[in-house]
Amino acid sequence: VFGDVRLDNIRPSCAQVLLSPYLAASCAFLTHLALCAPFLVLDALGGVCQRVRSWRIAAGSGPPPSLWKWYECFWRVLFKYATAVLPAAAVFQLLRSPSLPELAPSCWRLSVEVVACFLLFDTFFFIWHYCMHRVPWLYRAVHQMHHQHHVPFALAAQDASSAELLSLLLLALGSAWMLGCHPLSEALFHFLNSWLAVEDHCGYNLPWALHRLLPCMGGAPFHQTHHKKQRNNFAPYFTHWDHLFGTYILHFMGHANLDLH
Ligand SMILES: [Zn+2]
Ligand SMILES: [Zn+2]
Repeated sequence: VFGDVRLDNIRPSCAQVLLSPYLAASCAFLTHLALCAPFLVLDALGGVCQRVRSWRIAAGSGPPPSLWKWYECFWRVLFKYATAVLPAAAVFQLLRSPSLPELAPSCWRLSVEVVACFLLFDTFFFIWHYCMHRVPWLYRAVHQMHHQHHVPFALAAQDASSAELLSLLLLALGSAWMLGCHPLSEALFHFLNSWLAVEDHCGYNLPWALHRLLPCMGGAPFHQTHHKKQRNNFAPYFTHWDHLFGTYILHFMGHANLDLH
């Protein structure tokens, strides 16, 4: 794919950036911010636009989060990335010293690998998330911080303890590694994973959201119900594990507008 691009031909400063073990985690952080940006705009518009407010899942329970809440959350997430995710991802990159295969994966292989990654990650996350809620000390030590948000917003997708962020990183990397994914499939999986995590927490049941097209996915109403109830909807994206274990509920009481849009 990048056959003619030799690192010797790239300016030393560029090569240094490309080879940096910090590149992956820095890209992940910037991607997260970029994916959150449209929701920051929606939250800001929510104060003046009735249509935007009508898309909010918790429309009856208060205004969109304030810019101050976004600001506070930003610094918390930045701090966790700088002190935990960035160093851990760098060590991991150095250990596995990735190389890019000569051939890109076919579209079919790319799609199958990305879907398989999501199904495996969803399974691991469901088990881990369920355990964190069932074991009191694990909940307090690892997961409680993420549940400070009863009504989450986009940036809060990564607002969790360092231990939880690292565990999720491990689950995502482990899923791709166990399936022996092509690096491009893995990169696409990490990107889509960030996007879906942001959408899960955005607080909006948007008319064009993915879960409306794919009923096997829960989307923001599904995960927001988890933040509210804490006893249901443990899977991050798909609903089959919660259906199977009897922990699935559609929405919480008092927010009937979920089904109106
Ligand atoms: Zn959450
Ligand atoms: Zn939880």
